[in-house]
Amino acid sequence: MKVAVNQIRKEVEARIAFVTYNRIGSGQFANGLMQVNGFELYLFQNSDLSKWGCKDDKYDAWDFLFMPKGQKKQVMQEFAKSRKQKVSEIMSQAANLQDMDKVYIYVGQRGGEGIIKLSKKLPGEHIVYVMCDCQKETKLRLIKEYGHQDAEIIWCECGGQETMEKLVTSYL
Ligand SMILES: [Zn+2]
Repeated sequence: MKVAVNQIRKEVEARIAFVTYNRIGSGQFANGLMQVNGFELYLFQNSDLSKWGCKDDKYDAWDFLFMPKGQKKQVMQEFAKSRKQKVSEIMSQAANLQDMDKVYIYVGQRGGEGIIKLSKKLPGEHIVYVMCDCQKETKLRLIKEYGHQDAEIIWCECGGQETMEKLVTSYL
């Protein structure tokens, strides 16, 4: 869903975006615009309920654990492929990110490099990277490489669902 940020620009105090290729919380928020307390919140999350976009739960883990090796590998490859697609899909939906006052971006282990690359175009002072510490050095190096070393960083759990939820909720 593309949102026309410019049309509603004047009436609000701040425009804030949340971008993640996982879900925010348990998926209780709809994607798109949420107007609240003078803020415009734009949510861009993985809303197709992909297993990799969900919070790990016991059932999925057990399921995966007892898969034959070949199938396991295939599942991992499929996840990686659809995650990669999702990263560029979400970032293209979020084409108006340049107009935001603040953009929270979840950076995980897988798909993390891609999303850092895609955030290159945004002004660093508007970005808040929400990151788990998997591949921490690589992520920090990339962020620096793209000139965003001054961007704010919030460290979070793997998947970032809870932290992103807390961040959204803090505006409500
Ligand atoms: Zn992680």
